[in-house]
Amino acid sequence: MDRFGRALSIATLVTALGIPSSIAPDSPFDSPSKRSARYEGDAMQDVAYVSLFPAVSLPSPAPVVPAPSFDELVRKEWSALRARGLRLDTRYFNRKAQEPRSRPIDMVVLHTTESGVMTVDNLLSFLGAAELCHYCITRDGAIAPIVYSGMLATHAGESVWSGVSEVDHNSIGIEIQAQVMPRKQKDSNGRYVLPITDPQYAALKMLVAYLEERYGIPLQRFLGHDQVAYSSLTNSRGRKYDPGLDFSWEKAGLPDNYVIPDPDVLSGRVGVSPYSVRKRQVTEGQHEASILYKVLRSATKSVR
Ligand SMILES: [Zn+2]
Repeated sequence: MDRFGRALSIATLVTALGIPSSIAPDSPFDSPSKRSARYEGDAMQDVAYVSLFPAVSLPSPAPVVPAPSFDELVRKEWSALRARGLRLDTRYFNRKAQEPRSRPIDMVVLHTTESGVMTVDNLLSFLGAAELCHYCITRDGAIAPIVYSGMLATHAGESVWSGVSEVDHNSIGIEIQAQVMPRKQKDSNGRYVLPITDPQYAALKMLVAYLEERYGIPLQRFLGHDQVAYSSLTNSRGRKYDPGLDFSWEKAGLPDNYVIPDPDVLSGRVGVSPYSVRKRQVTEGQHEASILYKVLRSATKSVR
């Protein structure tokens, strides 16, 4: 077949088969410059390339997922809490409280509110405005989110545990509304604080389970404010008494963490407040009524 005849037959074939001209064989009539232009990004070229080399799957660029916004994080936490059956009162949440922590979360500090007689509305507004905890459990067992768990709240104050001071930075603070009782009724701490209600314990138990799972906090790291607080004036424990000796660790779904020997007293970082020891007047028969007695006894045992 001569050149003209061959070109004609290719053109006829291309037209008859409906092949797009871009992947049709080269026409001998194309100029060299036109041919090279066609070969750049030519479909035929790609097919030939792929067939010569084993298929290599190149990593596709990671999809850009925008970080969730603060509001999204809060919404996610609230829906997770509701999914566990908790009743939330979100009216007192302070969304402006967004001070970051300087350490990862690895502890929860339990408190009872020790303020004077306040209405629930006053109490929660006060906690919110001053960013004093992450959650407050009201007498009826509702949970009022105050500061988002991922952000800093000021609830523990002067504190140290296992050599880590200012535990606000690595802890979540839970307040349990206790308020004060009539001045003639004292609890076994000698304080005028109302006992924690069963709905409060039920809510706390669910909140404990949520925080354990969400942040991977070991149950032995859910501690009382009285355990972690100290006073720099005396360099000793005894600055705080909450949640107190009547607190039921069992009802909160926790082991009795009051029996944990105080690591900072043991190491000599802080002393035991002589005032606290005198105040509690502990005897052998009432030993379960004293945190300090338990701590001292454990400390003595472990030193032996
Ligand atoms: Zn406290």
